[in-house]
Amino acid sequence: MVLDCMHHCCTVGPWGNLVNGVDKEIFRSIVTSMASTTSVSAHEGITVATGTSAKSGPVGAPQSGLTRDQMVATIAELGPLFEASAVETDRHAAFPWTNFNALRERGYLALCVPKEYGGMGASYADYMRVSEEIGRHCGSTGLTFNMHNATMLWAGEVADLLDMTDEERAVHERRRAEMFRGVVENGEIHSQPFSEGLNPNALAGIATRAVPVEGGYLVTGRKIFASLSGAADRYNVTCQVEGEDFLRLLSVRANSAGVEIVDDWDPLGMRGTVSRTLLLKDAFVPADDEILPGGMYDQAANRFPYLFMSLAPSYLGLTKGILDFTRSYLRGEVAGAAKGTGRRDNPIKQYGWAEMQIAYEQARAMLYSVVDSARLDPTEADLVTAWAAVYTTMEHANKVAALAVRVCGGQSMLKHMPLERMYRDSRLGSTMLPWSAEVALERIGKAGLYDAE
Ligand SMILES: Cc1cc2nc3c(=O)[nH]c(=O)nc-3n(C[C@H](O)[C@H](O)[C@H](O)COP(=O)(O)OP(=O)(O)OC[C@H]3O[C@@H](n4cnc5c(N)ncnc54)[C@H](O)[C@@H]3O)c2cc1C
Repeated sequence: MVLDCMHHCCTVGPWGNLVNGVDKEIFRSIVTSMASTTSVSAHEGITVATGTSAKSGPVGAPQSGLTRDQMVATIAELGPLFEASAVETDRHAAFPWTNFNALRERGYLALCVPKEYGGMGASYADYMRVSEEIGRHCGSTGLTFNMHNATMLWAGEVADLLDMTDEERAVHERRRAEMFRGVVENGEIHSQPFSEGLNPNALAGIATRAVPVEGGYLVTGRKIFASLSGAADRYNVTCQVEGEDFLRLLSVRANSAGVEIVDDWDPLGMRGTVSRTLLLKDAFVPADDEILPGGMYDQAANRFPYLFMSLAPSYLGLTKGILDFTRSYLRGEVAGAAKGTGRRDNPIKQYGWAEMQIAYEQARAMLYSVVDSARLDPTEADLVTAWAAVYTTMEHANKVAALAVRVCGGQSMLKHMPLERMYRDSRLGSTMLPWSAEVALERIGKAGLYDAE
């Protein structure tokens, strides 16, 4: 089934079940939401629109009784919608509002909000499976949804593991209750622009400064690759108060004075993440908008670094999506592609198809085995396993994408095929800090060779 073209540049090239279940009404909502997010090019120093005008639809009540499989099944049902909107999201390098609106209407912004705060109560391990399923249908939605959920997990499941004084715990309970309420009741979207391009380490190279003032802080700094630019309600930034020996994780509201989004956004891949540059100049953050008590972000990063893996399932899902496409293509089921099933009978293509599946299975097994056994205070050996899992997931995403182009053949990478987008998206996984492929290689390369100091 091919969708009628409803926009001058909408040529959705469906593959497999790409458009099954996506009726004209859904497609119209995609086009409408794209129209209201037309991107504005700008260079540094020039502000671009930061409104959240394309947020629409009701905030659905989170369902707290779902099993992991049921959580994933809901996303699978949304898959055709996500795939259809991914075409326009990528073309315009615009935020995937259609997909976020669908997630919010189903209560999924509260996926990782603990049940006692009205959320769905998904664990980190549950989240990884849901994230994989999202990434399978739209890489940019997976990656941006991750930024939102990472904050829920830092403040929720991870905070519960940390050592806090009774007083710190009480303050955190009060603050996070309010933060979670904003997500559950108002559908607030969080982002976490941590990167500054100064140092790959999560706890170093943070030049953003917070100056204590009455009732809170004034935050000044520059964050690069601030995914969800112009879409998030909250920019949760790492920053430091002069004289303190730890980082603070402060939540800057998008509508605060002193918040600017600058720079062009016309990247190779993951274009829907809209990861522009965030400039903060004396942006006021109330003390109660601190995501973790002072010192707790450092403790979490040191004692539960597994949360830095939370990006990986987006790319594992992307890999799965590439397998889905390749299977459909080799079976001759992709609309608008070369006809016939001859390709699947070709032994050398079968060999490549086997390699692709093996690479996915390796990444999947490693990633889930680490996440399912994640615990406080990992040993060096535990960390090597975790870094190796992330490295493998990110590198295999691109390896599988490259293989898919070769196995399917030249006609598979034409612009109207999703594989072309997936190939570009897959390239970026290995650049994600703080556990980029380079960082993982550097750390694994030193492991076991020296005595602990
Ligand atoms: C699509 C996309 C979305 C993103 N979204 C977010 C987001 O929402 N939030 C966020 O915080 N970040 C985000 N990032 C940023 C990402 O995590 C990295 O910070 C970014 O890719 C680093 O770019 P760089 O050019 O500074 O890279 P690099 O060249 O890796 O440089 C990082 C810095 O670390 C140094 N460095 C790198 N590796 C090493 C090493 N092994 N040893 C010593 N020094 C080293 C470099 O010299 C440099 O100073 C996103 C990136 C992309 C591509």
